[in-house]
Formats: sequence, structure tokens, C-alpha cells
Amino acid sequence: MVKSDIEIAQASSMALITDIASKAGISPDDIEQYGKYKAKITFDGLAKLQERETGKLVLVTAINPTPAGEGKSTVTIGLGDALNQLGHQTMIALREPSLGPVMGVKGGAAGGGYAQVLPMEDINLHFTGDLHAITTANNAIAALLDNHIHQGNALNIDTRRVIWKRVVDLNDRQLRQIIGGLGSPINGVPREDGFDITVASEIMAVFCLATSIDNLKTRLSKIVVAYTYDRKPVTVGDLEIAGAISVLLKDALKPNLVQTIAGTPAFIHGGPFANIAHGCNSVLATKAALNAAEFTVTEAGFGADLGGEKFLDIKTRELGKTPDAVVIVATVRALKMHGGVAKHELEKENIAAVKAGFANLNRHIDNIQGYGLPVVVAINEFVTDTEAEITALSELIANKHVAFSLTQVWAKGGSGGLDLAEKVVNACQETSHFNYLYELSDSIPEKIEAIVTKIYGGSTVTFSKKAQNQLKEFEQNGWTTLPICMAKTQYSFSDDQTLLGAPENFDITIRELVPKLGAGFIVALTGDIMTMPGLPKKPAALNMDVDNSGNISGLF
Ligand code: ADP
Repeated sequence: MVKSDIEIAQASSMALITDIASKAGISPDDIEQYGKYKAKITFDGLAKLQERETGKLVLVTAINPTPAGEGKSTVTIGLGDALNQLGHQTMIALREPSLGPVMGVKGGAAGGGYAQVLPMEDINLHFTGDLHAITTANNAIAALLDNHIHQGNALNIDTRRVIWKRVVDLNDRQLRQIIGGLGSPINGVPREDGFDITVASEIMAVFCLATSIDNLKTRLSKIVVAYTYDRKPVTVGDLEIAGAISVLLKDALKPNLVQTIAGTPAFIHGGPFANIAHGCNSVLATKAALNAAEFTVTEAGFGADLGGEKFLDIKTRELGKTPDAVVIVATVRALKMHGGVAKHELEKENIAAVKAGFANLNRHIDNIQGYGLPVVVAINEFVTDTEAEITALSELIANKHVAFSLTQVWAKGGSGGLDLAEKVVNACQETSHFNYLYELSDSIPEKIEAIVTKIYGGSTVTFSKKAQNQLKEFEQNGWTTLPICMAKTQYSFSDDQTLLGAPENFDITIRELVPKLGAGFIVALTGDIMTMPGLPKKPAALNMDVDNSGNISGLF
């Protein structure tokens, strides 16, 4: 019987977190322990790390996800373990899971098989409380904003133009659109409102891009929460609450340290989704890892068209470092789905479908090479893959003269990724000539068109009437020099999730633009993408339980 992720995790022993910190050269004085196996790095500890040299950065991304599963986190963790096994001191930098998908869709967020981070139950649930702090900080702004309106509205806020939403870290479609403040004058001012999931919030983005508490405060002040009756933006700074919101976030801002099954140190910090937000872990954690280790392996969410693009065009500008190599994870199963095979037919060998589905991987390889970065493809092996399918895929990649490796980190941990690790080390030695996809000085439509035509493979962009009006407004407000954070389905290069493979000649409709001045980007909402997901008919929550000793079961 194949063991589940949680069974493997529970059977693994953990080293004390002080020992894990030592492996990264971090003194016990520079960590704050949350029990025996989790810790946060103090700000003093972070400052000490900054004095060290910067190591190599490896970004793990993937083809467009399918229900067949790709295993990006699994490969990230396995690759980190393998690099360590080869004698390269390595750290992993991952995102914190959101309770939305944990309770909703079956599938771990802390890796899988023998490539996992521990303690996986804690990491997947409340961990060190960062997501709760982010939720509270976000909702404190909402409460203080509504109180400002209730107490006389000195800033002249138009209650029909409040854009700040409340958040909760759950998939809860019931809260997408609500009316609050009902009752009577003592219960506030009635207005239309709505909730987003925490991981889509600007606070999460600010948290992940902030480089210090001061920088956090500056970013928070710039957040636009509403407009006045004469259409002037109102910010958190105008409400005079940036200090209070920073107070709520000051502990959460310290990166969390944990370990893999093999004892590799891993930072897990910040967790924006890549389809509706920028999809990368915190700059503070990635920087700390880069200073603490020879190699840092980090992951960006969903496919290379979403998290990958945002890592390169948004995060690197704040991080001050671009990847030395990029790993693109692909699976035979997922490529077969991109090649037209239905999920229930995946067990059958189908070489033609692998070849057809390769179009998806092919475009992602071209895109990353377009940034001037070395690529290594990791074929994440599933037991159902046949030799002929793997050979067919290997030939297609080899014909492109791109390095690739068949990895078995899910089944074997780091030992299953030694070949991948060697190829990644070689790729990191190549000279990269990184170039951004667009210049910040390009106009907002030019930046969006660059993403749509050069990354997605689309041909045109249509702006809705609302988006067209916003373009004019943003120009007047001087908000045109920010990067773009696309909100798009993860399943397709296009904004239509049913178009798998490598669709061409499609149009992308920009429904709405959202200014996120604190984060420092403009969100472009495409298609019918939602910033508050719903739960499926049979949520993962139905499988979960806990016994009288506190042992959890059914969490993946
Ligand atoms: P992603 O990061 O791409 O969302 P994960 O690494 O979180 O994917 O993996 C999703 C699920 O797929 C996990 O439950 C993991 O155990 C499983 N998985 C990953 N790789 C394999 C594999 N090679 N064989 C079987 N299951 C796998």
C-alpha cells in the first residue's frame, strides 16, 4: 500500500529547530522558537545574515497545472535535499499554505511523498499564525475605515467607491458580495461590501514584498482604500493607521524556519496565490536564505505563465537578484491531459498525447529562455508513467537542447533528485543575460500586451469600458510606472480554462484594473477570475479528523 503524505510525515523524526538553524549558520540567539520544531528568525538575526555573501538562486516553476498534478513543491523540496546530499549547503524558500485549498481541494501544500517539509500538519494549518495576523491587519483597516465614515467622514469618502475588502482565509463564496452596516445609525453606514480570500489581499502582497518594518510601513501608507466624492484616492496613510497595522504584522514579518524530512532547513513565509496575486514567498525569507546558503531553491505558484512571470517581473525588482537557473516541472500525466486525454484515461499509455501535450511545456521553455535564463526540465515521475512515454518526452526535450532529468524525489526523497541537482548546479554556472519582459516606463496597455503576446501566446488584448476608464484615471493619478500582476486562470495560457496545450490567436479581456500601490503593482483581472474561491462539492474537509491524543488524519 502506498503511504499517504501525512502517514510518511508522521513516521519521520525531526531534529530540534536549533540544530536546523545551526545548519544554516543561524545562532540559537537569533531565533524565536514556536515549540521544538518551528522558529522565527529575529530582525537582528536577519541583519546579521545580510552581512554574508549572496548564494545561487534556483526558481522552480511548472507547466500549466491540470487535475493530474505536477508536483512543484515536491520537486522544490526534493531538489533542496538532493543539493545538500551532493554537499552544497542549500536552503528552501516556500510559501505558507492557505486554509482555502487545504479545506477545499485534496492535495498537500507542504510537498509530497518523501519530499516534504515538517511538521506538515502545523504548516498546513495555523503554523505560526502569520495568515491570521495578515487577515486581522487587513480587517483592521476595514474596521477603521468604516469607523471613519461612521464618525463623520472627514475625508469625504464616497461609500460607493470603497475598494478595500474584508478577507478570510477560507473558500467562502457566500461572502463574495455582501451588504454591511445594516440596522440603524448606531450600526454604521450601510454599503455594499465583499470578502476576498486572505492570500489575494494587498496586505499579503505588501507583507511578501516588504524589505523591513520601515518599508512595510511605507508600503502600507500607500495602499488605496477608497475614493472621495470628487474621485481623489484615499490611502491608509490618510487614515493615519499605517503604524497600527504595522504593529499587527511585526512578528508575522519574521521568516519561519522548519525542516524537510531529510533535515534541510526551509523558510516558509508568506503565501499569495499566483492566479489572483503575485504567487511568491516573502522577499525577506528569500533574501535570508540567499545569505544563509550556497543554493536557495524557491518556488513560484502555478505555471510559469503566472507565478514564474510574476517572480521575474515583480519579485526580482524588490529582491535585487534574478534566478541563476529555472527548473520547469512537468509530468507525463499532465502533458497527456494537455494533449487531450481525459483524467480517467490517464493510466493508459498514450505516446501521441504526450507529443501533442509537449506544446505546453515547449512554450514555457521558450518563455523562460526569452528572459535569458538557463532552464532545466524536471520530469516528475509517477508510477503510472510508461518507459515509452518517458522516452518520447525525453527526446522532445533533448531536441531542444535543453537539460532535463527524470526525478523520483516523491518516491525516494533527495536520492531521487541527484541527477537533477547536478544539472541545476551546471546550469547555475552558465552566464545568464537576464532581461525583463517589459520596462516599467512602458504604458499599462503596453505592459499587459507584452505579457499576453510574449508569454501567453495570445494575439490581442481587449479592455472593458470600465478598464478603459480606469486607464485614464490611473494616468491622471500617475500610477502608470508600476509592474502588472495578472489575475488569470492557472489552467490555460489563455483566460479560458478549457483551452489546454498551447492555444494561439486568442484575445484576453481585461475586465478591471485594481491599483495596489502598497504592493507596488497594478492587478489586471481577466476573464471571470474570482478573488474569493468557492468550495467543491466534496471538500477535502470531509476526510479530516483528529483523535483524543491530538493526532490528525486525512490531511492529504
Ligand atoms: P504543486 O506544488 O505543483 O501544487 P505538490 O508538490 O504540492 O504540487 O504535489 C501535489 C500532490 O501530488 C501531493 O499530494 C503529492 O504527494 C502528489 N505528488 C507529487 N509528485 C508525485 C509523484 N511523482 N507521484 C505521486 N504523487 C505525487
